[in-house]
Amino acid sequence: MTTSPILHLDDIHQVYGEGEAAVHALRGITVEVATGDYVAIMGPSGSGKSTLMNLLGCLDVASSGHYYLNGRDVSELDERQLASVRNREVGFIFQSFNLVSRMDALANVELPLIYGGVKRKERRERALEALDMVGLADRADHEPQQLSGGQQQRVAIARALVTNPSLVLADEPTGNLDSEATEEILSIFDNLADQGRTIVIITHEENVAERAHRVLTVKDGLVIADKKTRRKVTQ
Ligand code: ADP
Ligand code: MG
Repeated sequence: MTTSPILHLDDIHQVYGEGEAAVHALRGITVEVATGDYVAIMGPSGSGKSTLMNLLGCLDVASSGHYYLNGRDVSELDERQLASVRNREVGFIFQSFNLVSRMDALANVELPLIYGGVKRKERRERALEALDMVGLADRADHEPQQLSGGQQQRVAIARALVTNPSLVLADEPTGNLDSEATEEILSIFDNLADQGRTIVIITHEENVAERAHRVLTVKDGLVIADKKTRRKVTQ
């Protein structure tokens, strides 16, 4: 089986600061992720996970090395081009949901489409479809504070999916949720993986990581383990 890599990091280094104060957050990361893979990134605090996430999501550019997203060398893009790649190619999901309060679920999900210049009628339709995918079509007119944590995260997943991104990128998506809501979110990710979505999820939790098909362990700015999980092998 050969699938083209959607993500290819080639000897990525990230250094914060200069001189004696310089922090080498990433020390030479080379990783490929195939289209449709479901990858968890684990590692202790300070190991470079957020730094890696910022690079993968095109929120930041590496000090050296190359990052190819869908075959395109992101390292060479300017701010405006990066913003456009972020909007079109990446669906972000955060630990704290990051929904806009006093805007209902539908309007929250529509936001990335507004930035993408999609017309009102199509926006509505696509946002409703995305809410339907996470089982919340009947909550479209609810504002974040009227929803449970798990429901808010499902709205955030709908918002991440509405642009039909190449990559779904989640940073501790279940970190603020109880075990029942965590399971809801993980089964949505399972469905997305079954549909062939590419997912990268950063997590501290073993039970979350083992739902992925592949687990990368990061330590001191290096990938120290890269394992296929049982789930993938038995499929
Ligand atoms: P993790 O997410 O795994 O906890 P980070 O990627 O946040 O790790 O951090 C990796 C290392 O880089 C840590 O030593 C951290 O202190 C440092 N670091 C992260 N961001 C910055 C920054 N903006 N400026 C200086 N050092 C940073
Ligand atoms: Mg972090």
